[in-house]
Amino acid sequence: MCGIIGMFSDKDVTKPLFYGLSSLQHRGQESAGLSIGNGQEIIRKKGMGLVTDVFTPSILEEWKGNVGIGHVRYSTSGGSYEYNSQPLMAFARGETLSLAHNGNLINYQILRTRLEEEGMMFQTTIDSEVILYLISRYYHGDIVDAIRKTMDLIEGAYAIVLILKDTLVAFRDPYGIRPLVLGKKPGEGTIVSSESSSVEIMGGQVLRDIHPGEIVVIDKSGQQSYQYKHEQKTPKHCVFEYVYFARNDATLDGVNAYMFRRRCGEILYDEAPANVDLVIPVPDSGIPSAIGYSQRSKIPLAEGLVKNRYMGRTFIKPSQEEREMAVKLKLNPLTHVVIDKKIVLVDDSIVRGTTSANLIRRLRDAGAKEVHMRITSPPVINPCYYGIDTPQRSKLIAANYSIEEIQKKIGADSLAFISLEGLDKATRIQGEHLCKACFDGVYPVDPIVL
Ligand code: 5GP
Ligand code: SF4
Ligand code: MG
Repeated sequence: MCGIIGMFSDKDVTKPLFYGLSSLQHRGQESAGLSIGNGQEIIRKKGMGLVTDVFTPSILEEWKGNVGIGHVRYSTSGGSYEYNSQPLMAFARGETLSLAHNGNLINYQILRTRLEEEGMMFQTTIDSEVILYLISRYYHGDIVDAIRKTMDLIEGAYAIVLILKDTLVAFRDPYGIRPLVLGKKPGEGTIVSSESSSVEIMGGQVLRDIHPGEIVVIDKSGQQSYQYKHEQKTPKHCVFEYVYFARNDATLDGVNAYMFRRRCGEILYDEAPANVDLVIPVPDSGIPSAIGYSQRSKIPLAEGLVKNRYMGRTFIKPSQEEREMAVKLKLNPLTHVVIDKKIVLVDDSIVRGTTSANLIRRLRDAGAKEVHMRITSPPVINPCYYGIDTPQRSKLIAANYSIEEIQKKIGADSLAFISLEGLDKATRIQGEHLCKACFDGVYPVDPIVL
């Protein structure tokens, strides 16, 4: 899980990319970086923290260039260290390359070991460096050829933006697992981003999604599109993007996240009604679904939890105690709303069960009479190998306990998850065009577990 962005323009791209990258901040809060090319050279700055921790206004004033990329990181492969932040850079045959990657290779360890045996030394512990290394190795003046040769070797999920000194390239794995959108800013240039919302925020118009297996090259002479292979795979877009990751205002591969989430809430009410006084969302990701649940059921929607806006996404914390504290800091019950009420609490997912157990306990302490839990995704029973940091199976509560047992563990009066069919229906695209492996175990690319 990361956010990537790129721009090619007649004008300076530094500030637009800074704003665009800020609009992807929800996709990664560990590190941020930008690489800017001006035709002569590429300059890069990256560091730990939020976009606004790494970039000061003075840097943005100093830098100028008409091509650039940016990255925000949420570590899935390799630890959370400065040396693993992106964009990465490489120098090959008189050219400078800089790359930013969202996704996860499943054959990273195999490729890396092979390259190390050949004598290659790496500067990071992330799979993205293997991709950049392979592209640099195969680059002899034709970037598309180098990418095609690299795509022959790498397997898994990748959405990538890459620049040369005067060229922007964007490409997507043959299944289109991770999202990548193409847009244009009239009279200025081209934008690519993990989410459509950034294109709009940067003042551009969304043109389309980059196709699975497509390589788009943008330079002074215009925009060229190449397909990695003639025969195309059935796409496998990550359904978790719609469930949780993407912003509400993102439309990815034909599905708008907000409308999807609202439909999930409606379907969930049809599948699992609750006889209660109030529908309460777990902010922020549960809000559209709670609206859907409330509109369908005619049960009033209420804010029963106050969110601390200055806390990031608190999913990955090293210890269970820290995770508990993080949930407490992030969300606090509104006693005046929930006291003596029967409520249904709507959230997007249960992974470890930390959030729901903690919230239900505290809502009861605040006086709620009954707390029913409704989840707008099916139980997460399998790890993701494509760049979403779900923990190993032993930590996934639904992989180890039945729904009745989970209900007891989290202390809910009732618990229901949306069905796989309901989830499909809510996307309004063909179910076979989605990766749902964390829910149904059908992996588009077989994971290699070493
Ligand atoms: P749990 O507490 O059950 O481990 O996680 C469920 C909560 O974490 C839900 O509120 C959901 O919105 C959120 N969540 C699910 N997946 C992710 C993720 O990959 N990253 C972050 N930051 N939060 C997640
Ligand atoms: Fe997305 Fe789940 Fe597939 Fe991972 S396994 S890509 S989270 S749908
Ligand atoms: Mg949440």
